[in-house]
Amino acid sequence: MKIAIIGGGIGGLTTAIALQQKGFTDITVYEAAPEIKAVGAGLWIAANAIIVFDRLGIADQVKAAGNILQSAGLGNHKGEILSKIDFTKIIQRYGNGTVAIHRGKLQQILMKNADKSTILTHKRLKNIKITEGSKTELYFEDGTSAEADLVIGADGIHSVVRKRLFGETPLRYSGQTCWRGITQMSLENPKNSAELWGTQAGLRACVSQVSDTEVYWYITQKHKAGLKLSETETKPYLLNLISEFNSPIQKVVQLTDNQHILHNDLFDFAPLKEWYKGNTILIGDAAHATTPNLGQGACQAIEDAWHLADCLKSTPSPTESMTVSEAFARFYNLRKEKTAFVTKTSLQIGQLSNLGGAIGYRLRNWLLSVTPSSMAEKQFDYLFHV
Ligand SMILES: Cc1cc2nc3c(=O)[nH]c(=O)nc-3n(C[C@H](O)[C@H](O)[C@H](O)COP(=O)(O)OP(=O)(O)OC[C@H]3O[C@@H](n4cnc5c(N)ncnc54)[C@H](O)[C@@H]3O)c2cc1C
Repeated sequence: MKIAIIGGGIGGLTTAIALQQKGFTDITVYEAAPEIKAVGAGLWIAANAIIVFDRLGIADQVKAAGNILQSAGLGNHKGEILSKIDFTKIIQRYGNGTVAIHRGKLQQILMKNADKSTILTHKRLKNIKITEGSKTELYFEDGTSAEADLVIGADGIHSVVRKRLFGETPLRYSGQTCWRGITQMSLENPKNSAELWGTQAGLRACVSQVSDTEVYWYITQKHKAGLKLSETETKPYLLNLISEFNSPIQKVVQLTDNQHILHNDLFDFAPLKEWYKGNTILIGDAAHATTPNLGQGACQAIEDAWHLADCLKSTPSPTESMTVSEAFARFYNLRKEKTAFVTKTSLQIGQLSNLGGAIGYRLRNWLLSVTPSSMAEKQFDYLFHV
């Protein structure tokens, strides 16, 4: 069976590895970017995704390239921790915890292990034509085309595959804009990380060691979408924004090269009622984009990869279109609730952090401090189970 994966991000590449492992031999990944390169940001990869990497035989490579965290906290701008997750307990329970890693390094590991697949860069999908009973045709912006028996749309939140299958999906703006970066540095306390919430609505800051020598940071602010700052304006703007924080964040931002600071407005979309049509299916952000407040977007894309490959392999004869749609239905039914839970819970956390004014600030901090760890643990049981 000829399989085309549109998008060589974390979801697309992990799917290629999972399909290879299940014995599929004709897999091509079509990636729009000219090269799959190290983007200057970090990621937290939680236990559920590390469990998948374990099953794919690449968890050790990911752990070696990243930093296995011992705890993550939520605190106020003074640096007082109001709520904390002990990852050592999670490791005892699930065999794996959270690994903080440079996104580009993770991408390189996935590329290396997707070696039985063909990875084509500079291939931006423009259109897709599904004809009942025959191969799906793919058309690219460079004027070339290709055919496939099965197409996986892993092309992110602005997915062309989704648009061609189901039309426009209205994106929801979270009300928050986000800056991220990585710099060469070692923190005093590299194994424990905390996100601090400022006095201003939506203001949050976090630093996290992602390898022995690299620190990842992010800052969010409540702001209407479309804020544009030049490369030289960004750093002074951020340093002013975070001046109240008792954290290494000022030093980390100060040390980051201007041109390596990434800026995005944070969007998601409401859970979709369908992810597939004919022999084409969506995974990852293309199917269920979420705001990053739970640190689960990439983890869910990784889980998708595992389950989709498993569903496809479990069908008796995946060359018949009937069984492909059965596999797709099984995949959707397996994944829809958990991904919707992630999207909803993450949105709610963002809304809580967006509460403004002195009352909002006190309410946020109070809620963080009274939320029992048993409640968080219950949610983690659901999140981390694969
Ligand atoms: C600020 C921020 C912080 C985050 N932190 C975390 C975190 O700590 N942990 C976590 O789990 N998640 C996190 N996420 C979410 C995570 O980044 C995404 O959920 C994840 O990248 C989704 O992977 P994906 O492969 O589905 O999509 P993407 O990573 O978006 O990859 C899509 C790929 O498709 C390619 N593409 C797009 N269009 C086309 C086309 N037409 N033709 C061909 N190729 C195309 C793109 O170039 C890209 O390579 C964060 C997100 C943000 C914004």
